[in-house]
Amino acid sequence: MDENRIKKRLFRATAGSIAAVVMILAVGTVLMIWLFTSLDQTSRSQMKTEAEEYRSRILRQLDQDFQLLDTLAAFMGVQGSMEEESFAQALHQANEENRFISLAYFSQDGQGILSSLGEEHAKDVGLEDLNEETRSLIKRSFTGERGVSHMFDSRIFDGKVFVYSVPVYEKGKITGVLAASDHMNILARILEEETVLNGGGYLHLLGTEGDFLIRSDNAVVEESTRSIFDGPYIREEEKEAIRKAMAAQKPAASSFRYKGREYLFNLEPVGINGWYVFCVDTKEGANDAVYRVTNLVAAATAGILGVVVVFLSLGYYVVRKNNQELLDLAYYDPLTGALNYPAFLKGLEEKKKQSGAYYIAAVNIHQFKFVNELFGKEQGDRLLCFVQKSLENCLKEGEFFCRETGDLFYLCLNEDTREEVRRRLETVMEKVSSASVQEGHNYRILLYCGAVEGGGDSAMTHVLFALAKAKEIQRNSVWFYDEELHRTEELENYIETHMHQALQDGEFKLFLQPKMDLEKGGIGGAEALVRWQTADGRFLNPGQFIPLFERNGFCTQLDMYMVESVCRQIREWLDQGICPVPVSVNQSRLLFYETDYITKLCSLAEKYNIPPAMITLEILEGLAVNHLEKLNDKILILQEKGFKISMDDFGSGYSSLNTLCNLKINELKLDRGFLMQASQDQNSRSAMILEHIVQLSKSFQVTTVAEGVETEANHQLIRSLGCDYGQGYYYSRPISAEEFNQLYMKQRKKTARP
Ligand code: C2E
Ligand code: MG
Ligand code: MG
Repeated sequence: MDENRIKKRLFRATAGSIAAVVMILAVGTVLMIWLFTSLDQTSRSQMKTEAEEYRSRILRQLDQDFQLLDTLAAFMGVQGSMEEESFAQALHQANEENRFISLAYFSQDGQGILSSLGEEHAKDVGLEDLNEETRSLIKRSFTGERGVSHMFDSRIFDGKVFVYSVPVYEKGKITGVLAASDHMNILARILEEETVLNGGGYLHLLGTEGDFLIRSDNAVVEESTRSIFDGPYIREEEKEAIRKAMAAQKPAASSFRYKGREYLFNLEPVGINGWYVFCVDTKEGANDAVYRVTNLVAAATAGILGVVVVFLSLGYYVVRKNNQELLDLAYYDPLTGALNYPAFLKGLEEKKKQSGAYYIAAVNIHQFKFVNELFGKEQGDRLLCFVQKSLENCLKEGEFFCRETGDLFYLCLNEDTREEVRRRLETVMEKVSSASVQEGHNYRILLYCGAVEGGGDSAMTHVLFALAKAKEIQRNSVWFYDEELHRTEELENYIETHMHQALQDGEFKLFLQPKMDLEKGGIGGAEALVRWQTADGRFLNPGQFIPLFERNGFCTQLDMYMVESVCRQIREWLDQGICPVPVSVNQSRLLFYETDYITKLCSLAEKYNIPPAMITLEILEGLAVNHLEKLNDKILILQEKGFKISMDDFGSGYSSLNTLCNLKINELKLDRGFLMQASQDQNSRSAMILEHIVQLSKSFQVTTVAEGVETEANHQLIRSLGCDYGQGYYYSRPISAEEFNQLYMKQRKKTARP
């Protein structure tokens, strides 16, 4: 798995976990918001209900007092004609029973009787003796209104009182007004009942201006304030809204913070004198327990979530660390700390996508195994680390390198010329070499480098070919990959690995090129030339594989195979009643060093029952150079057996007349080069030499064959020179045995069997 995939997986896992946490958080938050909003709403509506309840209790109280006054008024109306003293007595009596602070009756003339609790009643009290508040209330009652006054300070005792007043009717006409004052406490008692919001809330009575008419001792705000608008408790922007609502006698609700707690409040108009019941409770209010449980659940959920987040983070950290370790293992060489091969390849992939030329170099240490053997593995490791450091130090921006295995390093260099690559690599190599000597070992470390231009698909393979070439040079060396050379080597490799199988599978085909009889005209013989038809359908010419076979010795097998193919062909002609032509077979020099060569040839001729005279063995001139006598001995034996001997390519190498004179050959094949030179100028020295060689050959009873006859002029020239045979494209290219039979042998059928 590569780094990107690991990173992607990690990213997905992380994103998944974060998404899960965020989702839980979101769902939890929404749930909590919903829960708290519901609880908040419940608290508010509970508070409103409560405020309304207290409002109605106040109204009920006032109503009771009015009813009492109404009853007294009705009684007063009936007693209207009573004598003043008796009326005053009756009023005093009524007040004693009903326990108003004071009870007064005023007749139309503004004169009245006042009975105050615990005091003697007073007669002749004038309206002007009363305070303004009471006076205006009583005056309104003379017009038929039942009313309640605002609160005012009592003259009789320390505290606030208020006054009720009702008209007194006698025979349907208002004859007077009955007024009673009562202590503010009768309302305060209601407000201070323990049951207010299950004992958790606070109630106050407010005037129109938000001023406290009755400020319960049981208040949230400890500081004494005159009005709810005093102090910083209610937010400024809300004060305005509340004032507006109060001016319109509408209910209002909001919240404020005090000493870190949030309080909800409700303002419920009483409906009298602009009074308001001001109800305050903590946010939790009556739902305190539910709030506490909810808070607990929220805290627990947050705690669990916190733990989950911690564990997830921990997990993420561990997985990340493990992945990093895995990636390190996957991408770094544990010994030197350099990148490893997969990481290098990955880097190359990236490099390919970018523009700009670059080279890939492979660096190796000459005979590294001996370093390990001589100095120990530890020292070997140190050397590898030193090479790693040296390579690292030579890198420029954007370049990278790796150690694959053992002492094999790869570099990617951002250079565009071989010269620069060579210079840089040589610098590193020199540095490593001189450092190894300085270390005190009398052992100079030599490196070798192969390099190839980057970008190609096979660059990594090619750089190794270049490295292998560099290895052949026993010094600090750089070798650049050569396409041409590589193709040759590739072919050689193919040839060497396939030749045995190819021989077994019959991939080596017999091709024949006619030798024309220049005197008689027509075909005088043929040369067997091998063609390799490979399994993948290619045709290889002898020039591509014979030199290699000569080097690796396979030529001897192939040549005997070709001799057998020729024997089989001649046998076929004989069997078909075709008069055969002698066929020349090229023989590698190696054959002549084989002890059983002659025996093998003879047994083949015997096997196919063909006269050896039908076979001409073409040998190369070079064979004769050092071993003329031995060669002559073999030639003589072969000739005794009946085989003919031809000297091939005469004139191409160390042609010497000495060879010609001393070798007992039957035929001389003049190299194509001779003819080419002679044909350029028929009076040239080459033409003269050729003519003399032909003449000389004739005197030794050696027939001559001119090779490479390509034109009519060539043909005429060799004829005029006295050559016996001509061979070349002018007559025919080498063709397959089948084609050859078709073209040249069919017509020789009439000839009697030899
Ligand atoms: P070679 O024995 O001298 O064969 C003649 C070569 O010259 C042949 O090349 C032939 O195709 C070519 N040739 C013939 N006429 C002309 C012409 O008019 N112009 C030109 N330019 N070339 C002409 P080929 O078949 O490629 O063989 C090359 C060489 O490979 C042969 O030279 C021979 O030395 C060797 N060879 C071929 N077959 C065998 C074999 O079975 N065993 C061995 N040991 N060597 C073989
Ligand atoms: Mg030949
Ligand atoms: Mg030849």
